[in-house]
Amino acid sequence: MSETDTIFGKIIRREIPAEILYEDDLCLAFRDINAQAPVHLLVIPKQPIAKLADAESQDHALLGHLLLTVKRVAEQAGLEKGYRVVINSGEDGGQTVDHLHLHILGGRQMTWPPG
Ligand code: AMP
Repeated sequence: MSETDTIFGKIIRREIPAEILYEDDLCLAFRDINAQAPVHLLVIPKQPIAKLADAESQDHALLGHLLLTVKRVAEQAGLEKGYRVVINSGEDGGQTVDHLHLHILGGRQMTWPPG
């Protein structure tokens, strides 16, 4: 396990199970194990960027791809009434897994502000 490896690296390599809903060369989408809404999905890059704050200008196409994947996966999941996309970055952001991930939350009315 490399320094940058996390539980999400293990999911990418199929070393631990996950309910994978979408995969391509650059990213993976799967169900969050501790759902905070009726639909709670995660989209992650295969490249192990630890957090959004570590992304660099050369990652711009990948970051765009992740957002378009969110749109695709949300459509697939039937979230036509809307959804929320969350990226927790770093300690104050509440990030607990050090591999960039985009949360998709839907299937209920979201409230604002988040905690
Ligand atoms: P964050 O707090 O933004 O770092 O989010 C990490 C998310 O990963 C949490 O919502 C966890 O429930 C989720 N998570 C942790 N381990 C797994 C796993 N093995 N499979 C699916 N989701 C996971």
